[in-house]
Amino acid sequence: ERERLSRLKSTPAITLDGQRIELMANIEQPGDAVAALKAGAVGVGLFRTEFLFMGRNGKLPDEDEQYAAYLAAAEGMHGLPVTIRTVDVGADKPLDRAAGGRSGEDHLNPALGLRAIRWSLSEPTMFLMQLRAILRAAAHGAINLLVPMLAHASEIRQTLALVDRARAQLDERGQVYGAVRLGAMIEIPAAALSIPLFLRHFDFLSIGTNDLIQYTLAVDRADETVAHLYDPLHPAVLHLLSNTISLCRNQGKSVSVCGEMAGDVTMTRLLLGLGLRTFSMHPSQILAVKQQIVRSDTAKLAVWAQSVLAADDPAALMAD
Ligand code: PEP
Ligand code: MG
Repeated sequence: ERERLSRLKSTPAITLDGQRIELMANIEQPGDAVAALKAGAVGVGLFRTEFLFMGRNGKLPDEDEQYAAYLAAAEGMHGLPVTIRTVDVGADKPLDRAAGGRSGEDHLNPALGLRAIRWSLSEPTMFLMQLRAILRAAAHGAINLLVPMLAHASEIRQTLALVDRARAQLDERGQVYGAVRLGAMIEIPAAALSIPLFLRHFDFLSIGTNDLIQYTLAVDRADETVAHLYDPLHPAVLHLLSNTISLCRNQGKSVSVCGEMAGDVTMTRLLLGLGLRTFSMHPSQILAVKQQIVRSDTAKLAVWAQSVLAADDPAALMAD
C-alpha cells in the first residue's frame, strides 16, 4: 500500500472526469518545504507564521529574521506559490506573555478574544514589521498574503490600509518588494455569511474549518469534554462551506480549505462534490488524498453532495 501511495507522487491530481485539483501543503517552519515538495505539493497553501513567534522567551522575530524565514520558504518551494498567513496567536496558540504582547490567552474566553488579526491590529508596529518582511520576500517568489480571523468590514479596511502603509514605508526606505495576492481566511461564521464583502476586497479565500466548526457549533476545538460535539458534518457547517465555495467559484476567485478537513480522506469526496478544487493539508496527508481524487468523478459527486447537504444526518449518507 505504501508503495502504491509513493507511485502516486508523480501522478497529477486529476479526477476521472478530468478536473485538475491543487494539493498544497500546510507548513509551520521554512524547513517544512522539503516535506511539502517530497509529497508532491504544488505550493504552500498555509504557512502558519505564529510558530516563528511562539516560545521565544520575550524576543519576537524582527523584520530581517522574518524576511529570512519567508525567503527560505519561497526558495525551498523552488518558485511554487507560498501562502504566508500573518500571525495567529492567542487562544490555542498562546504567545509567551514575557514577549510583551497582550495576546489574550489569560482571558475568560480566549478563542473569542484578542486573537490573530485582532491582536495584529492592536499591535500595528509589530504587524507592519511582519507585512514589510512578507512584501520584501515577495520580490523573490510567488507569495500570497493570507489574513486570519477577519469578520468585520472595519478590520478589512484597517488591514488593507496597513498593507499600503507597509509598502509606503518600504518605498521611503528605497527597499525592494514584490506584488502579493491578498487573501482572507474564512473561519468565523459571520465571515462565511459575508462572502460578497470579502470577494470585493480579496484575490482569494481560504476556509479554516478548524475554527469555522468551533465557532459555528460553539464547541471549543481544544476541549476534550465536548469533542463528541465537534462535527465537521453538521448541516450548518456544510451549508457555510458550500455557500463560500459556490460564491467564490461564481466569481472565478480561488478558494481553498486549509483546516484539518482538507487532509481527511473521508471528507475528500464531499469537498469535491461541493466544488472545492484546492486543498491544503499537512504534507503527510497529500498522497492519500490524491488517491481519493484520482478515483473520483466530480460530476457524480456534485449530485450526491446536494443530497448530503439536504440531509438531517449527513453522516448517514457518507458511505453512499
Ligand atoms: C483553521 O482554523 O482551520 C486553520 C487552518 O487555522 P488554525 O488551525 O491555524 O487556526
Ligand atoms: Mg484558524
